[in-house]
Amino acid sequence: MLKNIAPIVFLMLAFTWNPDAPVASARRATAEGAVDLAVRNLELTQGVPGEPLILGKLTVARVQIDLPPATNLDAQIRLEVDGKTYERAANLVGPTVTVTLKIDALREIKPITATVSVTPTGQATDPNLSDNSKTVTYQTVRTTERVVVFFLPVDWTPEERSKYDYNNAFKQHVQEAGDFLMSTYPLPADRVIVDYTMTPHMLSSFEQTLADSQGKFNMRNALALYANLSFAGRRYRPDATMVVGVLPPGWFRAHGQPGTLGFTLSDVKGIVTGQYGANLPPIIAAHEIGHLYSLDEDYDFAIKPSRPCVAIFLPSYWAEHELELIDTSTKRLCTFMSAASSQDNYWVDQRIYEYLLGKFALNGGAASAPLVLAATMTWRVEADGSPGKTSANVRRFEPSQPVYVSVAGIALQAGSTLEVKLYRGNAFLRALAPQTTTAGNRWYPFLIAGTHSLAEDVYRVDIYLDGQLVKSNQIEVKASQ
Ligand SMILES: [Zn+2]
Repeated sequence: MLKNIAPIVFLMLAFTWNPDAPVASARRATAEGAVDLAVRNLELTQGVPGEPLILGKLTVARVQIDLPPATNLDAQIRLEVDGKTYERAANLVGPTVTVTLKIDALREIKPITATVSVTPTGQATDPNLSDNSKTVTYQTVRTTERVVVFFLPVDWTPEERSKYDYNNAFKQHVQEAGDFLMSTYPLPADRVIVDYTMTPHMLSSFEQTLADSQGKFNMRNALALYANLSFAGRRYRPDATMVVGVLPPGWFRAHGQPGTLGFTLSDVKGIVTGQYGANLPPIIAAHEIGHLYSLDEDYDFAIKPSRPCVAIFLPSYWAEHELELIDTSTKRLCTFMSAASSQDNYWVDQRIYEYLLGKFALNGGAASAPLVLAATMTWRVEADGSPGKTSANVRRFEPSQPVYVSVAGIALQAGSTLEVKLYRGNAFLRALAPQTTTAGNRWYPFLIAGTHSLAEDVYRVDIYLDGQLVKSNQIEVKASQ
């Protein structure tokens, strides 16, 4: 982990665009006669597959349909969710195609059942209708947290404003970073507030001096700068969770920190700066607010070879942009807590999403059934059983660190049993002393291993609620080099 100054390397986003339900511009003749359509999968998603649905967050249904290879066929897709019907005509091309339907935001805490059926509409008929429909059920969760991010332009001179098309560029930067935050966080859209001012905050020469005459970083000046920016942003938005100071291109080089593109100070919470570039990273707000909610870095430069990225292997879907996000051999899909690079794409993985959902829902939220929302690995726990500061979702433990799992239970019944089993690789090692639940929402911390008690290896932790496997997580124990 980097102390005090965490450089943020800005990135360029170029997402893999996989349009679903492809419609050929010069349409091939559609199939005639008997064609067997089959619904292979129906999924309701808000960005991360397999998660409970959050009230008020944009939700889509994704229908995966199989048909004979090289077949082209018109079909009608009919979806029923929570008593409402959604229909869409699509031209399907074999052997498999995924069709997406946007559904209305969910408003009530109750289990949601969705049923889809697909029928050919052209000259073709389907001789086997038994595999043309599918039904799935999801649980719902109400979150209570609200995140406010305020973008403050800092030190933009009139010359720089004109040179970089400030009026358009700054607004676009705010919009992209806010959009990414809203899409990746387990919160309804109206609980993620993005605000900004167009009036640049100008700095004194003392605040601008981040290095002394020998080029050494000047902590006193940096603290003054950060305290001042934090205060300036909160004059506009007293309720800001995070103030993002946006500096003009070249600012760090001009003020004694060449090679830096942004940084955070661990001593001044809720403020971060980043230097503006033509292709700005949209992950800055999501990453820094993640730290405020205790998330650890996903880059690991303490071992060789270093690991700048935690890759996301579950195909994910950016509903707001209708984008399928896939990790490929040429372009990795990294979590937003990874180091930023122009080579990679970014999203949120299951572990980060589930942990944040626990943070955002346990405190006064509700669920449609007793659920374990997260099993988050950490080396220290707070008094309430949640993971401690900057230690939530640790992927690699030093042998000298204790290993805990914090289990987020929501709407649990009193007297249920939570059990944790530890595996080394796939070999069962031991079961921990079970914990009996109390009614409602709570974090349940389990100490898995004390310091220096696990050999270097990969370990798996399985969580059982009343005998049912509900969560699984994996860590590595390995000393830094
Ligand atoms: Zn960081």
